[in-house]
Amino acid sequence: MLVTTQVSEIVQAQKDFFATGKTKDIQFRKEQLEKLKTAVTDYQDQITEALFKDLGKPKFEAIVTEVAYVGEEINYFLKHLDKWTKNQPVKTPVNFFPAKSFIVPEPLGQVLIIGPWNYPFQLVIIPLLGAIAAGNCALLKPSEITPNTSKVLADLIANTFEPSYITVVEGDKEIAQELLKQKFDHIFYTGGSAVGRIVMKAAAEHLTPVTLELGGKSPCVVEPDIHIEHSAKRIIWGKFINAGQTCIAPDYLLVHRQIKEELIEAMKAVLREFYGENPAESSDYARIVSEKHFNRLSQFLDNGKIIVGGETDAKNRYIAPTLLDGVNWDDPVMEEEIFGPILPILEYDSLEDAIDQINSRPKPLALYLFSKNKTKQKQVLQETSAGGVTLNDTIVHIASTELPFGGVGESGMGAYHGKASFDTFTHYKSVTNRKFWLDVPLRYPPYADKFKFLKFLFK
Ligand code: NAD
Repeated sequence: MLVTTQVSEIVQAQKDFFATGKTKDIQFRKEQLEKLKTAVTDYQDQITEALFKDLGKPKFEAIVTEVAYVGEEINYFLKHLDKWTKNQPVKTPVNFFPAKSFIVPEPLGQVLIIGPWNYPFQLVIIPLLGAIAAGNCALLKPSEITPNTSKVLADLIANTFEPSYITVVEGDKEIAQELLKQKFDHIFYTGGSAVGRIVMKAAAEHLTPVTLELGGKSPCVVEPDIHIEHSAKRIIWGKFINAGQTCIAPDYLLVHRQIKEELIEAMKAVLREFYGENPAESSDYARIVSEKHFNRLSQFLDNGKIIVGGETDAKNRYIAPTLLDGVNWDDPVMEEEIFGPILPILEYDSLEDAIDQINSRPKPLALYLFSKNKTKQKQVLQETSAGGVTLNDTIVHIASTELPFGGVGESGMGAYHGKASFDTFTHYKSVTNRKFWLDVPLRYPPYADKFKFLKFLFK
């Protein structure tokens, strides 16, 4: 295990490299992004194999949800980097005439990125792209719960970058805590809120700013005025991709009583269509990451009434896609984020009632509303708060380079993806540049005769 002195040597080496100013060069940043893009393409098979070993992640899902977005995001950065890194001129108040003012985007320095296990590759690499684009050095700590992916990440990074620029430190929470003792210029953490609190406390010791990408129970509200087959498909896809181990998966359904039975029938048909009669035999359905999570999830199967699914196989950490009816807010399954393939279905009679249920709980990371009605869409957007929203689908708002992704309240703080990633790892330095050819004496003492000008200046 790495000891504190080794950790501080790695950290110091990166600080020294940052101090050379190399990472501030825009061409250097672009080259590093290009290098990473090539490396990810070269490593694609190793990445998908590791994800299969760790999570039974189907190759298609691995490519679409973990690998493809990397290239898309890099292309986006390469296209916009020149513009984003330019000094931005702004107006100067007339009292400082003659002067010019501008904003200088500068890198923060050295950043720490701590990743979770559910999308263990992309949730480390995507924040890294922002750190590179903004001109930082980075230390990455992938999740130990997905050791195969952690190893591939470590190899990929070691074969692509100098450790004094970017490096991976593998290990468990002890290693994470060693890292957290160090002073970084930013900590980007993705994971559960309990550890989020630990990270924020450790960061406070050094006054280090943090981005916390946390989770929570993301509701999915279904009104009667929907396209039933498309809604069923989009809900089932978003819930059961990666066997429900997705931070923005619909955690539970809030369904209008009028449409509930019809929606359940449609969802049952979709489950058969997606995963066959026995999802355990489907090559398109992932496994639970660990025995601990398998046991945690299995206990929820006693809650309410199973409409479909419920089968488990501890040896293979398999839990069938499961729909639960008759669940209420006092059941354990409704007390914490499920983070697995179990979908409780609650019903409501009026949209106001559904909104009240959402608002009486912590602000979720994502919120979904299925309704064609624009007034209802507006009402939900206005009367609820969530990290992000997709209307009439699930998950997809996360996949846009144009939309910042992050939580609010208990689901996190800060955001990334596209420009938001660049902003997260950038300090916008304000500069005023005065000229010497004029020096209005108004602000200098003695002040006695100058009060009459105050009224004019601060009207
Ligand atoms: P976790 O909090 O258990 O672990 C995340 C990271 O923290 C790991 O690298 C781990 O080694 C480290 N860690 C664990 N204990 C620690 C400690 N005591 N001190 C310091 N570091 C420690 O989270 P997880 O189980 O990997 O992820 C699940 C949670 O993450 C869910 O709540 C999910 O919603 C959330 N999540 C959020 C997003 C997002 O983008 N907002 C994405 C994925 C997952």
